[in-house]
Amino acid sequence: MLGSMMRKELLISDLIVHAGKYHTDTEIVSRETSGELHMTNWGEVAEQSRKLASALDALGLEMGDRVATLAWNNHRHLKIWFAVSGAGKVCHTLNPRLAPQQFIFICNDASDKAIFFDKTFMPLITGTKDHLKTIEHFIFMGPRDEDVLAALPEAVFFDELVETGAEDYVWPQFAEDSPCSLCYTSGTTGNPKGVLYTNRSTMMHTFAISLPDALSLSASEVILPVVPMFHANAWGIPYAAAMTGAKLVMPGPMLDGDSLLGLIDGQKVTLALGVPTIWMMLIAAAKKSGSKMDSLKRNVIGGSAAAPSMIASFRDDFGCDTIHAWGMTETSPLGTANQPKGKHADLEADALALLREGQGRPPFGIDLRIVDDTGHVLRHDGKTEGALQVRGHWVVDTYFGKDATALTDDGWFDTGDVSTIDADGFMVIRDRTKDIIKSGGEWISSVDLEGIAVAHPGVAMAAAIGAVHPKWDERPIIIAVKAEGADPTEEEILALFDGKVAKWQVPDAVVFTDAIPLNATGKMLKNQLREAFGNTLIERGTVDA
Ligand code: ADP
Repeated sequence: MLGSMMRKELLISDLIVHAGKYHTDTEIVSRETSGELHMTNWGEVAEQSRKLASALDALGLEMGDRVATLAWNNHRHLKIWFAVSGAGKVCHTLNPRLAPQQFIFICNDASDKAIFFDKTFMPLITGTKDHLKTIEHFIFMGPRDEDVLAALPEAVFFDELVETGAEDYVWPQFAEDSPCSLCYTSGTTGNPKGVLYTNRSTMMHTFAISLPDALSLSASEVILPVVPMFHANAWGIPYAAAMTGAKLVMPGPMLDGDSLLGLIDGQKVTLALGVPTIWMMLIAAAKKSGSKMDSLKRNVIGGSAAAPSMIASFRDDFGCDTIHAWGMTETSPLGTANQPKGKHADLEADALALLREGQGRPPFGIDLRIVDDTGHVLRHDGKTEGALQVRGHWVVDTYFGKDATALTDDGWFDTGDVSTIDADGFMVIRDRTKDIIKSGGEWISSVDLEGIAVAHPGVAMAAAIGAVHPKWDERPIIIAVKAEGADPTEEEILALFDGKVAKWQVPDAVVFTDAIPLNATGKMLKNQLREAFGNTLIERGTVDA
């Protein structure tokens, strides 16, 4: 027997219909690529998304076709998202920070039919165009522009294209398991792999991230997604903002500390989201200017581990509560978020701070487990470390274009992370499997060591890697970048570890460098650091080769 309730497929178009109808005049503030601020609202975004969807049909694009974007977080990008996915096509966000060869590989692998691009990325488009085999339409995100036409005569202009669309366009209805968007992993090793989200998986994720124990979104929030729309769909924020009717502030290309601070103070942002490197620059800018960022009540840090000192600075210097979150492109991306439970209400400040340093617990819809090398499931006791596996309504099953499942025999996705999980479900990432430091058969978490090193005010960024050691196989060393105007010594930094980790976990050396290489989503490229600094201990002569 079936139940007798209305049946409606869960579709991305529902989000923009809702936001356009019930949050019509809620503002969308957006930094143009040229620098000035642009103001619109959900009503206008909904209308223009419909017109754009109609115009894309007229260009000959069909259901299921991949439509790529090469763009910053801005109002046009938002309209493209809803137009493309709402019309049953697949919005494929490309990461402009990829090397040109990877960019070409991904476009061709996805068989993108059309590409929208911001002015910033003209050189990438003109430089790679001859290798982009499947793209039929190049759409410039702006008004008619003679410079663009000179470099790319076939260019179509977003603002003109939208005007050709029909006002009375009606969103098509189709199966909720149809794809809506496509993201590639950043591929630090090997070629990137595509994750093809469905309308249903995205809608489930959108409900889940909006809940109070996840990111707690509502129509009272002013949300600044610093995390790019090309990085795991800006962690789902544009969808969730439409679902909840939040005001959005889109930072465009200007992601430096001063520009973000200007947006936070100017637009009274209440919640901002981004990776740790962004926050370092923001904190520095705020301290320099004397701003207390009064409106900013909460921020979400994810993508890499948030250092405890950074969480403490937001709390103590700015009265801002950090939600530490974990996820992957393969998990849409939210897997866990750190919000305390009722039972933690009476915790002492130190104990609560310690609890909040971890990556948090899964919302309904995500299940976690840890396993050992042989696949045996390990205890959730907060101490036992194992390979973190995940399953749920918004977790990948098969990579785009591949036949083989991405899952274990019993249906879990192996994340490549090592973690602990406690009896309340609080998960702590210890490391990536390939980055954990193996000293004499024992594991040392590089995340822990980095958190301690960056607590030194003279350290801007720090990576812990395993350096080759003849007796212990690997010993931890720290690669550090000095903060502007500071001159910390190796001894000072090593002294920080006293009493914070076991003696045998204290790094053997600190090496200063000018910059730590980052991947396209802002993560430290540890394999390059191991290549450059892996022989430090041998070269220094402190150990024999
Ligand atoms: P890629 O895997 O291509 O670098 P993702 O953005 O999907 O791109 O990265 C997911 C990985 O990022 C996770 O498996 C984990 O290693 C790391 N990560 C994400 N959030 C956190 C966090 N809060 N703390 C520690 N590591 C994190």
